[in-house]
Amino acid sequence: MSDYARAAATLISGAGSAIAFTGAGISTESGIPDFRGSQGLWKRFDPKMATRTFMLESPRVFWEFYAMRFEALARAKPNPGHKALARLEREGILEAVITQNIDGLHTEAGSRRVIELHGNIRTSRCDECSSTRPTEDCIREVMEWGKVPACDCGGMMRPAVVLFEEPVELFEAALRIAQESDLCIVVGSSLTVYPAAFIPEAVKSSGGRLIIINADPTPLDGVADLVIREGASDALTGALEALGIA
Ligand code: NAD
Repeated sequence: MSDYARAAATLISGAGSAIAFTGAGISTESGIPDFRGSQGLWKRFDPKMATRTFMLESPRVFWEFYAMRFEALARAKPNPGHKALARLEREGILEAVITQNIDGLHTEAGSRRVIELHGNIRTSRCDECSSTRPTEDCIREVMEWGKVPACDCGGMMRPAVVLFEEPVELFEAALRIAQESDLCIVVGSSLTVYPAAFIPEAVKSSGGRLIIINADPTPLDGVADLVIREGASDALTGALEALGIA
């Protein structure tokens, strides 16, 4: 058992109310590319493709980009990292998972209290009236019939995710949970996307502890109580083992 696993277990067992804050890095081991890691999507695509402006100006190319992302995601299954967080919640150790991910894998792994700050790609909604439809159906319209999916009201359907330039509506609720927590376990996030990255900062500035599990350095490493530079699954299953609940 590694020293990191033991140190993580000590912090986790000493916490009164712990949360996890996750990013794309927890899902790379499920085959979903992240944005800023070594194989990240932004090495191949321009981030402007995930902006509201781009969706309105080039809806067809926007939809093709999301169809490609959905393809990687539709086959993905939760990995041991997602399952370890679900286990920590079942054991009464973790209060909630606050995630930036849009892949739905925390819920599929069994986590019950999941705040999806940036939405979920499996559902699409009308940009005008907000009525919903499975994204899979919308993608069929784009890829097979070559048209941008429209709602009955005439509005454009779009994935129910938060695009750059759009507000993060669940942020205030997530912030309240963070301010009541005394430990935040960050897993697989570059901690560069705001306002989401304020969540671990809020736990720390309310006097809580911070564990960061990430393959690359993050801007909060300097204030973290423990930094584990390992793969998410190994680090989390190691912590579970050290807690005696593997
Ligand atoms: P990011 O791409 O900015 O950072 C991911 C971090 O995870 C990187 O620092 C990388 O080093 C690390 N990482 C990659 N694989 C890892 C592993 N196996 N173990 C530990 N660390 C690993 O992602 P972010 O911080 O989540 O922010 C970017 C935005 O990405 C979010 O808004 C999110 O909506 C979106 N996104 C989500 C998905 C998804 O739903 N799976 C995928 C790509 C991007």
